[in-house]
Amino acid sequence: MEQIGTVQSLCPECLKRIEGIKYVENDRVYIKKECADHGSFTSLVSMDVNHYLQMKECFDVDRAKAKEPLTDTEKGCPFDCGLCPSHKQDTCLAVVEVTDRCNMKCTYCFANSSMDASLDPDMETIRKMFETVKRCQNDPTCIQISGGEPTLRDDLPEIIRMGKEVGIAHIELNTNGIRIARDQDYFNRIASAGIDAIYLGFDGVSDDVYRQRTGRDMINVKTEVINRCEKAGIGVVLVPLVAKDYNLHEVGRIIDFAASRVPAVRGVHFQPVFYSGRSPSEMQNRVTILELLESIEEQTSGQLKVNNFTPSLMPHAHCGATCLTLVDNGGFLPLTNLSSGAVQSASDVASKTKKSIMGRWKGLEKEKESKQSCGDLLIKGSCCEKPLSDITVKSSCCEKPLTSAIPGSGSGLSGGWADFIEMSKNNYLTISTMAFQDVWSYEQDRVENCCIHVVTRDCRFIPFCNYNMTSCNGDFLYRNAT
Ligand code: SF4
Ligand code: SF4
Ligand SMILES: [Zn+2]
Repeated sequence: MEQIGTVQSLCPECLKRIEGIKYVENDRVYIKKECADHGSFTSLVSMDVNHYLQMKECFDVDRAKAKEPLTDTEKGCPFDCGLCPSHKQDTCLAVVEVTDRCNMKCTYCFANSSMDASLDPDMETIRKMFETVKRCQNDPTCIQISGGEPTLRDDLPEIIRMGKEVGIAHIELNTNGIRIARDQDYFNRIASAGIDAIYLGFDGVSDDVYRQRTGRDMINVKTEVINRCEKAGIGVVLVPLVAKDYNLHEVGRIIDFAASRVPAVRGVHFQPVFYSGRSPSEMQNRVTILELLESIEEQTSGQLKVNNFTPSLMPHAHCGATCLTLVDNGGFLPLTNLSSGAVQSASDVASKTKKSIMGRWKGLEKEKESKQSCGDLLIKGSCCEKPLSDITVKSSCCEKPLTSAIPGSGSGLSGGWADFIEMSKNNYLTISTMAFQDVWSYEQDRVENCCIHVVTRDCRFIPFCNYNMTSCNGDFLYRNAT
């Protein structure tokens, strides 16, 4: 056993701040921490120390801070969230929950949803939440409307319109898709209110998977949502929760499905299960980032390799990983590679990430209206922020000129950058993951650098992992206490 660092963490029983160590055993990375009252706790954080350290090296930059803190530093992290002046990172995505209600009762759910409509925030409260985002977040402002299931609100189109009036640049909707698939008129009203992207729960391509978590068939619902979004020119990101003994065997098929629906589908964002909310104390189905990436490599027959996933731009290097790839004739041409090295430029990383979120997830029609070029997006989405010519050479699996590296080169491309840019406009897919933390895996260093913030009804920003953090007895650190 070799110690490679220390961690500030939380006790899974009492949620008090406790210290621990990070150590390596049989090439695996673990956190071990100890509470004076409740004993010691050990959790696995990576299956391979080399990959773990490489991810950290690839992304080590200064970060942009929020425009203004909303709380003081009093009790110390993580008990001062607001954001407090110690927080190291601006918001890249502000999550605004417009209801706790949900029309499903999934086995995994961090939100612990209820069915009480009287608890929904009113329009005035939501307006203040939007205004706080506009005031505190550096431009461009990005919001995800979430829940519960936001489409249970009949006034959701008015909420979206109000967000646009307040000046929010990008509004995406986190949904299970049921109402969108069933109610064309409701969807039309959401679309004309200005929704920019749909963030669609999508755990698999077979109803076997959905039946396990939700007790019902869902793939037709998901397909119908994509069809409707495609017609309306609204981009869709598929969001699979991933767990062992659930759908880890299906991640390759999910990516293949996404590739078959590009450009309507802009990305797949895998969320490994974390033990907060309704399932705070079950551990057996946890999937580390590396296990997920290895499954993707295996199930895409090596077309997307572990090394094609670099740390996501803004979050801590161990919070997520991203691969930007072109899709052509069912094949993939990944444009990112861990071996390309560390990010060179730090000053505008926050702005670039938000623009990247906006650009990648917007629908085609909306993208045509935006000033960004696709080449811009590709550069910004890469790990290394180097010229596009460099990226394509270094990140292509075969180190050949791009046009000869494109799978199925009978695609009509005659070569050159103009063709490449033209193809990439319609054929790119972002595959990403975020390993949300729970009380077992918690590291203060990661939440201090967090950029995904839940906006509370009293207009504070709480890092997403802190907001949902639950003790093994079911007590929340912030949710229900705000
Ligand atoms: S997570 Fe950030 S905002 Fe919350 S207490 Fe820690 S430093 Fe402050
Ligand atoms: S939400 Fe959690 S996993 Fe994501 S960036 Fe924040 S701390 Fe990291
Ligand atoms: Zn304790």
